[in-house]
Amino acid sequence: MNKEVLQQMVEKYGDRATDSLFERSLYARDLAPVPNLLANMLVKTLPDIVVRPENTEEVAQIMQTAFQNNIPVTPRAGGSTVYFDSVPAKSGILMDLNLIKGVTALDEQKMTVKVKAGTTWSELDDYLNNKGLAPKSFPSSAPAATIGGWFCMMGYGIGSMKYGSLLSQVRSIEVVYPDGKIQQVTRDTDPALDWFVSSEGTLGIITELEVEIRKLNKMKHYLLQLPDADEMLAAMQEIIKAPIVPYNMHFTDQECLKAMNALGFSPADMETGCLIGIDYEGDDAELQQAQKIIEGIAGADKKVNPIPEETAELEWEEKFKALRLKRGGPSVLGAEIWLPITNLPAYLNDISKMAKGYNLNLFSYGHVVTPEYATVMTTFYANETQTIKYIFNLSLVKKIHDVGYRYGGCPYGVGVWNSPMIGRIHQVPELKELRKRKQTLDSKGIMNPGKVYRAPLLINPFNYSMGMNVLAGVRKVIGKGW
Ligand SMILES: Cc1cc2nc3c(=O)[nH]c(=O)nc-3n(C[C@H](O)[C@H](O)[C@H](O)COP(=O)(O)OP(=O)(O)OC[C@H]3O[C@@H](n4cnc5c(N)ncnc54)[C@H](O)[C@@H]3O)c2cc1C
Repeated sequence: MNKEVLQQMVEKYGDRATDSLFERSLYARDLAPVPNLLANMLVKTLPDIVVRPENTEEVAQIMQTAFQNNIPVTPRAGGSTVYFDSVPAKSGILMDLNLIKGVTALDEQKMTVKVKAGTTWSELDDYLNNKGLAPKSFPSSAPAATIGGWFCMMGYGIGSMKYGSLLSQVRSIEVVYPDGKIQQVTRDTDPALDWFVSSEGTLGIITELEVEIRKLNKMKHYLLQLPDADEMLAAMQEIIKAPIVPYNMHFTDQECLKAMNALGFSPADMETGCLIGIDYEGDDAELQQAQKIIEGIAGADKKVNPIPEETAELEWEEKFKALRLKRGGPSVLGAEIWLPITNLPAYLNDISKMAKGYNLNLFSYGHVVTPEYATVMTTFYANETQTIKYIFNLSLVKKIHDVGYRYGGCPYGVGVWNSPMIGRIHQVPELKELRKRKQTLDSKGIMNPGKVYRAPLLINPFNYSMGMNVLAGVRKVIGKGW
């Protein structure tokens, strides 16, 4: 990056801009531990400068400077993604959006809130709860994840089952384009809202969103233990087709239950079968009806074991601790898959075969986020301090994705690391359209470049597939127990 431009930015933004190596290094990674050996071969993750704008005007000024000087810009908010989505792939400016926060307008008639993009979901929840209101949905990373960050990803999580995707709840957004122009974007503008969902910061910077909200209702929580994945699916389908839609439904497979139990985290001290957690919210009449639905399922089928409600409430309290399993690590590796729920038993069955083949434990858990789809996380323990073994283990992430793909699934999120599998997420015409949008809004290619649309050359789909299959083959023969 041009030294003069860098110096001007440091002078202009004072202690909100830094070129200190120590501070820049903090932005060169996300939650995924990726060995330097691998990362440095593919991408330039160390930004030249980190800037923390405080408002839309400053975001626009920074974008104008970047545009005039062809400098890559990587937006970063909570940094709670794991595919290098918010890590630079081509150095340049790292725009830290965490100072752009707060609620700017609440409309209790329309039941919407205008909120700055760097506000976390927990901050918005606290603000609304004090007024007897709540967000319709939120990610299970809510304490760190921001409103803008989740919108730029897929936007499915807790509450999506009842209230739909975040896209369906957002009325408008304020966007700063790569050339610094600012636009209010709605469903009716050109470009429209849906361009920006899942765009992973590659089309512009979102500075404010108008989001639908709901009344803060009472909740009821249930946990059901099922003997196997087939019974789990049958119970899920009963719950889905019942007249009261759950707010949230999550599940845990047997291996995950065992691992949680070994760490002392099992909500019900269970080691066998699968577990479904079902959370309802609504008025008293809805909650009573929900209770009847669950009692009906548990009472009619001897194979369904209802866990005491206090335990189910405890499980709900722990909803933000999805990474608890890491305690058994030192690291966990894994894949998150968008999977048709009807294929969940077949998927888990093949995952179990894969675990035997590679002599490792694979733990699966997930959320049912629509009547048809779940996000399924399948993970295993690894040790990032043993670089070579760790790289061999990374090949198993692709193998988990292969199982998901076999059953109609695809990666949930792209960034750098899932970009070789972009063809599994989008059909060719859809991908062409996405690339056209990118070209239209970011003709200079400065917005979060080097990810999402095309994989870096070394891990293009062919190289990635061949390389990972070879590594996995070697891992299978000589790496048992790695
Ligand atoms: C424990 C845990 C639980 C999780 N649960 C869920 C879940 O339930 N559902 C789910 O979908 N994901 C989940 N995630 C993944 C991740 O937390 C979410 O996608 C989250 O919403 C990302 O928000 P963030 O603020 O951390 O964004 P970041 O990680 O900072 O950024 C995400 C992407 O958006 C871009 N970006 C961020 N803010 C802006 C902006 N204002 N304008 C333009 N681009 C921007 C970045 O460049 C990057 O590409 C989870 C992760 C963890 C670790």
